Amino acid sequence: MSENDSSKSASLAEILIRLTAEKGLALNQRQMEQFDLYYRELVEWNEKMNLTGITDRDQVYIKHFYDSLSLAFFEDLSSVETLADIGSGAGFPGIPLKIAFPHLKLTIVDSLNKRIGFLRHLADTLGLEGVTLVHGRAEDIARLTEHRDRYDAVTARAVARLAVLNELCLPFVKVGGWFAAMKGAAVAEETAEAGVSIRELGAELAGTHSFRLPMEDAERYMVMLRKIKSTPKKYPRKAGLPVKQPLL
Ligand code: SAM
Repeated sequence: MSENDSSKSASLAEILIRLTAEKGLALNQRQMEQFDLYYRELVEWNEKMNLTGITDRDQVYIKHFYDSLSLAFFEDLSSVETLADIGSGAGFPGIPLKIAFPHLKLTIVDSLNKRIGFLRHLADTLGLEGVTLVHGRAEDIARLTEHRDRYDAVTARAVARLAVLNELCLPFVKVGGWFAAMKGAAVAEETAEAGVSIRELGAELAGTHSFRLPMEDAERYMVMLRKIKSTPKKYPRKAGLPVKQPLL
């Protein structure tokens, strides 16, 4: 790293520390080192495979790291033990949350094995313990006993519209747990069309959080669903069907 790069990463680290501290989240030096390493591995691996369209350091820190951590501004993650992140891609929001809350038992499910390979390397490099990486379609993995109705909390960012996501994600949530759908676009329309899937899959709408991404001045949303009963056995339907024929 050149001197210029290292002073830039130091100032970005300070900005991330300040911005998250303003929201009550304290990040220590080890965690900032893990974010720095995460950035470097992401950019290096991105040259070999498609992980993200965002590689500028400032943008990765805000649009990926800060945005992923934003869940903790609204929900108490210290009381969450098991977290599943569905369609995590290059690790968002699961890995930043695991860095900030090392006690979490994190399970990541993604249908692209190359990305799971990256995440395996990343988890080793960052020294993250208690991370389970699962290659497969959420529709298939949610049918396995060890994953079904098991997780205190489930997240998904930028994977599909809410009516589809509900079928991919709610089967993983234990009764009493929650699912956070993290979105970059206005959610009123998606939420309005998701009523059938929310009811069918055993959940209720708990609310929507919104905030502005610092420096980018872009709106972000989080739709929160609470699981109130077990998901009926027939869901999720066969892989691909939730997207082709959403529960509307
Ligand atoms: N969550 C990440 C983020 O916000 O940067 C990645 C978003 S990327 C647009 C969507 C990811 O979901 C991809 O990595 C894709 O492989 C995965 N995915 C899509 N459908 C899936 C499914 N049915 N089961 C598991 N993973 C899926």
